[in-house]
Amino acid sequence: MSIRVRFAPSPTGALHIGGIRTALFNYLLAKKHGGTFILRIEDTDQTRFVEGAEQYIIDALRWCGIAPTEGVGFGDGAFAPYRQSERKAIYRRYALELVERGEAYYAFDTPEQLTAMREKLQAENASNQSYSAATRTRADLGLENSFTLSENDIHHRATSGAPHVIRLKVSENQTVTFTDLIRGEVSFQTNELDDKVLMKADGMPTYHLANIVDDYLMQISHVIRGEEWLPSAGHHVLIYRAFGWGKQMPQFAHLPLILRPDGKGKLSKRDGAKFGFPVFPLDWKDEFQGFKGIGFDPRAVVNFLALLGWNDGTDKEIFTLDELAASFSLEKIHKAGARFDYDKAKWFNQQYIMATPNEELAAQLRPLSIERGFAVSDEKLARFAGLMKERALFLTDFFEKGSYFFEDVKVYDTVNVTKRWKPENRDKFSALQKFISTLDFNEPLPMEHAVKDWINENGLK
Ligand code: GLU
Repeated sequence: MSIRVRFAPSPTGALHIGGIRTALFNYLLAKKHGGTFILRIEDTDQTRFVEGAEQYIIDALRWCGIAPTEGVGFGDGAFAPYRQSERKAIYRRYALELVERGEAYYAFDTPEQLTAMREKLQAENASNQSYSAATRTRADLGLENSFTLSENDIHHRATSGAPHVIRLKVSENQTVTFTDLIRGEVSFQTNELDDKVLMKADGMPTYHLANIVDDYLMQISHVIRGEEWLPSAGHHVLIYRAFGWGKQMPQFAHLPLILRPDGKGKLSKRDGAKFGFPVFPLDWKDEFQGFKGIGFDPRAVVNFLALLGWNDGTDKEIFTLDELAASFSLEKIHKAGARFDYDKAKWFNQQYIMATPNEELAAQLRPLSIERGFAVSDEKLARFAGLMKERALFLTDFFEKGSYFFEDVKVYDTVNVTKRWKPENRDKFSALQKFISTLDFNEPLPMEHAVKDWINENGLK
């Protein structure tokens, strides 16, 4: 079987790093098996559309180096278009097919009627208060659908353009079971599932219908997505079966949540501001900085995200993208949520800096040195990079922490200068300065020891 996966975000704002991890795991599975990785944009909910969000998704995937094989922004493949708003005509056809098969039905209820229904069910203390097998046929609830109206009436209303939705007809008293590649067997009781809307009154499909129809048409083999979609999976399995596509149903893998650093709940978009770390790959408008803006190497970000909920079964932590793909498997993904640890992210970045040859670092530092007006040869910049790299978490740290290599110190720590640097010690500092000038700067370690010895011998702290 050929591996065909998709990342299917909705362009409702900046893409959270959890989304990048989902994309990464899809990318890795496709790469490992020489499969296809599609970027599909699920933009059928026009009320949630945010300008610029789609481009952000494309830019973020590109920056991370995990470009899809095909999809919006990455070129058309066999099943284009890949933007759902451009596929509108397809979904209605499929919804009507379900109506014909007796698996879906028309409903003409207004928002007021639905509210009245819910109030009535609440007053009754009904066990299932949703639009469902238990309620759809009850004329006393005032519902207007294929069960409560005559066939003629339905036909007339549907063809005369009366606003309506198409709902999935969920059967009573059944258990829906499927095997999730990460979670094992997952079951749902149909009595707890509502009759999901498939086509909305505005003529757009809901996420559920469009997502299933497209996964089927695009011959997706594996649906890899966040755990927040697990509650929808029962409906999804029912929709596949309703179409008679049970055998073609993709395999599901629901990824563990990314948790807040304190482990208390899911890491949300707002937690970045709250805890003072980035939760997005790129900057978003003027609102916040992403990993890129802070100075992260995308390879470090990818490496960090890959280990949020996955490892290769050993202690190995540093992986190139190729190594990740080679050792990746969905079965090795953990069930439990993975805590987001920002210090660990910084640690990864430092590992990538330390592993970068000095000459390459010098090339990366060159724009920053120009920005600061430091005229320095390539050779000296490389030596500087070599000396500083153990102390730098980010490229920007090199000049922040080592500007004294290039210019006189302009700002002093006033506490040290005025309080600790007592007048009676000034002669000692001059002597120390002279002593240092006699040392061999090409031998940093002996030099450090010599200075420390001198300080001890001369009673300086
Ligand atoms: N459009 C959904 C999202 O925004 C897709 C979920 C899925 O992969 O099925 O994440």
